[in-house]
Amino acid sequence: MARSASVSKSPQASATPAAPAGVAERAGTVAQGKPSDTRSAPQKAMDKLGLRRDIDLALHLPLRYEDETRLTRLGDAREGDTVQVEGIVRDSRIEARGRRQLIVKLHDGSGEVLLRFLNFYGAQQKTWSVGVRLRVRGDLKLGFFGREMVHPTVKVVNEGTPLSHSLTPIYPTSAGLPQLYLRKAVEAGLKRAPLEELIPAAVLPPQARHWPSLREALHFLHQPSPEVSLSALEDHSHPAWQRLKFEELLAQQISQMRARAERAHLKAPELLTQPQGLQDQLLAVLPFALTAAQQRVCNEIAKDIARPQPMHRLLQGDVGSGKTVVAAIAAAVAMQAGWQCALMAPTEILAEQHFRKLVGWLEPLGVKVAWLTGSLKAKAKREQLAAVASGEAQLVVGTHAVIQDQVQFAKLGLALIDEQHRFGVAQRLQLRAKLQSAELEPHLLMMSATPIPRTLAMTYLADLEVSTIDELPPGRTPIVTKVFADSRRDNVIERIRDEVAKGSQVYWVCPLIDETEETDLAADQAAGRLSDARPPLDLSNVTQTHEELSATLAGFGVGLLHGKLPPAEKAEVMAKFAANELSVLVATTVIEVGVDVPNASLMVIEHAERFGLSQLHQLRGRVGRGAVASVCVLLYGAPLSDSGKQRLKAMVETTDGFEIARRDLEIRGPGEFMGARQSGAALLRFADLHEDGDLVEQARASALRMLREHPHAADRHVARWLGQKSEYLKA
Ligand code: ADP
Ligand code: MG
Repeated sequence: MARSASVSKSPQASATPAAPAGVAERAGTVAQGKPSDTRSAPQKAMDKLGLRRDIDLALHLPLRYEDETRLTRLGDAREGDTVQVEGIVRDSRIEARGRRQLIVKLHDGSGEVLLRFLNFYGAQQKTWSVGVRLRVRGDLKLGFFGREMVHPTVKVVNEGTPLSHSLTPIYPTSAGLPQLYLRKAVEAGLKRAPLEELIPAAVLPPQARHWPSLREALHFLHQPSPEVSLSALEDHSHPAWQRLKFEELLAQQISQMRARAERAHLKAPELLTQPQGLQDQLLAVLPFALTAAQQRVCNEIAKDIARPQPMHRLLQGDVGSGKTVVAAIAAAVAMQAGWQCALMAPTEILAEQHFRKLVGWLEPLGVKVAWLTGSLKAKAKREQLAAVASGEAQLVVGTHAVIQDQVQFAKLGLALIDEQHRFGVAQRLQLRAKLQSAELEPHLLMMSATPIPRTLAMTYLADLEVSTIDELPPGRTPIVTKVFADSRRDNVIERIRDEVAKGSQVYWVCPLIDETEETDLAADQAAGRLSDARPPLDLSNVTQTHEELSATLAGFGVGLLHGKLPPAEKAEVMAKFAANELSVLVATTVIEVGVDVPNASLMVIEHAERFGLSQLHQLRGRVGRGAVASVCVLLYGAPLSDSGKQRLKAMVETTDGFEIARRDLEIRGPGEFMGARQSGAALLRFADLHEDGDLVEQARASALRMLREHPHAADRHVARWLGQKSEYLKA
């Protein structure tokens, strides 16, 4: 029943911009990838950045500008300045001061500077020979041998070669895509791109009177005249920026509203709640009663899945608020109505835990549960697949293996996605494709403990209903969080001894950045947002800690869990810890989501400064699940950066997931929330949801009006701004 939609196909074939003349030769064609791919390295890099059509290039805006409109005399230049100077080469030679380097001595009549190149081609030394005139731009510093510039940009010129007339734009780029190549491509794209106004004046907000047209705004920002001040260009409150941000938000709102409207035409099974059905039998065997919040969201979901349109709902609730049981009840309603359900979790450990829990609850009630992960042996996999295809298994639990092509559901009625924000965009698209069906589409319930700030919900999730569990089950004692420097490690280990002697269990978490899909912090570091970026720790950190704790806590069971262990071993360690056969679990962030062992009451997080705030909160959520008072100890390596301090402080001051999310947004900015984190490229390039809340509201109103009154222009606007990315917005 699954129709495989071709979501990965990109409409680039005819739209690749021609390489700008004179650049392709210099950039060279480094053969990479498949032999059939004859595009040059820069072309491929542009493709990766989504720069495929002329309009994509026109909308690729500078990060900043350099002033190459004037020359500074070396005699007037000050150290610490970024300057452009011009002079004659006096000396050029290769030296081996520790490392082979090219040193060029430049003189302009008023003074002298050394140009230092650690990476260079032999040809460069030949070109930059004595007597040649060079125009160079870089940071002037005082080095050991006098004033110098390290890796300046260099141009060979003649006397009187004209200076640039406009500020030079510097574009966001990536490896393999030289700035000059990109600049020429953008220039060409800007010339060719159709930039006629698509938004009718009546649809624009009132302040748009002061905005330039799209064409004017783009020309202004790509090719600023020298009179424009740098600060006006770089200030994103400038009317040109306002125009672009608004247009971007408008495209996003329209595409979300379209998706919602499309969904209203789709048909889904009506999963009516039957009195005394499986859901009531499940409630009767649960060892607890639902909280009021759980009951409320169960009702919201029940109402929604009873309708003949597919539900598309996010269930959000803080860690430990009890989302799993809500999902199980929804599944029970669906299965009672004669339909299959699938539950997908982002890690094998979490999927396994759900499997055990659901088997425990549902098999006694006669439900057959299938298990699907990537690590299943071929024979076992065939059996599970057969059970799913025949409909014998009413519930399927697993990792994203659940949505792979070979999986054919007999009658899928409800898909449940746990920790949905942990799935990559590609996987979310794959899921949507899998769920699309010629006849009836299944309902979709996504769960997440990462609360979504309101403006984000409006922009990213206009096509989503949200249910919130805003209450924790009763009897939980709040977690006390303490922060200690690494130097107190021994005291902390003594504390662990006391705890395990009392029969409690302890998590000891070590960061291991290269292991998981990607951590908050790794993403932050990649984006250059954290000042305290340090090299990732390797596996030895966690194995050494395991050895150390095994030795000092002799007599108690100390387990080790990390992503590189074989799945069977992971499952075994986890099961032993859950059964209290291990007192201490030394683990990496593989335990970040979902792991649920109520008897664990102490968590130590080593190098806590290396984790992002939401990740710390997720990790801490592994304790405080039972009736005993729980403690979370954050160990940090000194010195702490400012953002590191803020993060640890936030952890001590609050355990409320919404407050944590708010602070996280403050510390990091919104880019990393939701899809942006996994896609690598933020879906919103210009608008800042934190700062541009007003524009978001206006774009929303304008989108409604444009869809109603100018549907054709609305389509063209979305195509212009989003191109193939509009698929991503649905993920
Ligand atoms: P999360 O929302 O983080 O996924 P879980 O579904 O894992 O939370 O639930 C956390 C723990 O709370 C589990 O041990 C679960 O069995 C328990 N639990 C869920 N609902 C209740 C409730 N109403 N009363 C008591 N315990 C509950
Ligand atoms: Mg959970």
